[in-house]
Amino acid sequence: MGIKRVAGLTKKTYQSLSISARVLISTASTVSLLLLWIILFYVDHQERTILAQNERTMTLMVENMISALRTIMKAGYANIAQDFVADVRSNPNILEFQILRANGQEAFLDNTTINDVNRRLGEEDFFPREKESANPVLDSQDHDLRWVSEQLKLVSRYRQTEGKSRTLVYLVPILNDEKCARCHGKQQRMRGLVQVITSLNRVEQDILETRIQATSMATVSVLLLLLLLYLMIRYALVRPLGHLKGAMELVAGGRMDLSVNAPGGDEISEIARSFNKMTFKLNETYMGLRREQDKLSTIIFGALDGIIVTDGTQRVVLVNPSAERLLGKTADQIIADGWEKILDDPEYMLAMVKRQSRDIPDLVVFNQRAMKIHTNTLLDAGQRAIGTSFMLRDVTEEKMLEDKLRHLAITDALTQLYNRRFMDESLIKEVKRSQRYNHFLGFMLFDVDHFKKFNDTYGHDQGDRVLRAIGAQIKEHFRKVDLACRFGGEEFCVILPDTDPRGTYVVAERFRRRIERMVVDGLKVTVSVGIVILPACEVSKPEEMVKKADEALYDAKHRGRNQVCSAVPIDDVDLDELLD
Ligand code: GH3
Ligand code: MG
Ligand code: MG
Repeated sequence: MGIKRVAGLTKKTYQSLSISARVLISTASTVSLLLLWIILFYVDHQERTILAQNERTMTLMVENMISALRTIMKAGYANIAQDFVADVRSNPNILEFQILRANGQEAFLDNTTINDVNRRLGEEDFFPREKESANPVLDSQDHDLRWVSEQLKLVSRYRQTEGKSRTLVYLVPILNDEKCARCHGKQQRMRGLVQVITSLNRVEQDILETRIQATSMATVSVLLLLLLLYLMIRYALVRPLGHLKGAMELVAGGRMDLSVNAPGGDEISEIARSFNKMTFKLNETYMGLRREQDKLSTIIFGALDGIIVTDGTQRVVLVNPSAERLLGKTADQIIADGWEKILDDPEYMLAMVKRQSRDIPDLVVFNQRAMKIHTNTLLDAGQRAIGTSFMLRDVTEEKMLEDKLRHLAITDALTQLYNRRFMDESLIKEVKRSQRYNHFLGFMLFDVDHFKKFNDTYGHDQGDRVLRAIGAQIKEHFRKVDLACRFGGEEFCVILPDTDPRGTYVVAERFRRRIERMVVDGLKVTVSVGIVILPACEVSKPEEMVKKADEALYDAKHRGRNQVCSAVPIDDVDLDELLD
């Protein structure tokens, strides 16, 4: 677990390094290992060469010394031999120079040989030593000693004594030749042997120097190689990659028109060329999008309709000038207040958004303008909501025109009363209402008496003026809820909601009297009136009601004009009492 974590960390650290650092680390590790192996091989080889060379030199030297010693010995100068040995020992490269007997004992320490020679020669040529001693230098069973005595050849070996430096030890046989045999007899093939211990200090010194030299060379080589590698990486990798990275950052920052140099045929140049292709395509797409966006912006900002758009977080992000004008608010204010307060009625707006403009009145009056509002949820390609749009259409002029048209459509031009069409529509509604709620509905139809004659006598214009005056009287006489219309020609009608038969009759009679009193340009007219009242009159359709009223009117004409006749029975009314 711990190892894994450490490995993970190391991997993470490695990945966080720059490419040049990674290449340097990898190369340095490989090159260092290679150089270490070469150094070890070289040093080992050098060590062997130095040791071999030293061994050859020492062997030659030892052989020469032994040859000299043998010559001295053969001449019988044993004393001189000892001096020679002392001389040799003074050589700093010679640590030991010992003449040994064949059994490994150091020679010239006791009188054994002197006595033996004197005995053999029968003379007292050699004086015995006064003091005798013994020094067993080598064990008589020593492997090398036995080998030398058998082979009668020089042997050399390296010896490492604990705590001391390494030495090269020679064992050189002293052969018992004819001249020796004269004094020492012929029994032994080897008279003795010489052990020479040579110092390896100089050699070790040379080896150490070699090691230091090799290490220094290797270190300098590694450093030079790394420097060279660093420069190469920098020139061939880091700099071009740096340029590419810089260009990518600029593109990411919006510089879509950027391209980089790609002179070579290497991978980085290929990447650079691909990068240029990519930015070119991106720029093309971006410019296309910009053009489309400009078009859309022009449309949105030039639209006569107010447009407000929110983003996915319901924050207002777009307000066009028409929206500012229609709402009488600045864009900043609309953005700050939020979409809910566009019309200062958050409840309505929330319902509007919730129902997506369905089943909710979309005509609102705000800021003295009539406007139609429409909301729409904006969706992305994945059908996810990314905002809401609010469209505000100014319909003030339309509304006014509509109202004007409507007014014209239902108004009689001469009298400014409602016209026949409006009367028909209204009567249908009122009859239905009366039947549904069982309310009274009065209806009166009146006609100017002998108007043809009036026209003929005073002229059509005068007739018009009278008709206009009757219109004015109607407007004054009836309640606001009563619907007075010009039925056609010199005929008029009034719908009287919630008016019983008696009330209808009274109002009709009062009106008849009012017209009777009216004077237009010094002239007078009278009217005959026919009334009908629901539900007393058992009719189910508006046209039947009109017919009944017309019949009552006919009745009034027939009875002598200037009077009110009812299609339904009216309780006895003392008119004079009631009307005054
Ligand atoms: P009655 O008492 O039986 O109703 O007789 P009347 O002459 O009024 O009846 P009639 O229906 O024969 O004549 C109606 C007249 O009303 C005919 C027409 O000249 C006149 N008239 C209808 N419309 C207008 C109008 O718009 N202006 C004027 N000046 N006269 C009109
Ligand atoms: Mg008429
Ligand atoms: Mg008439």
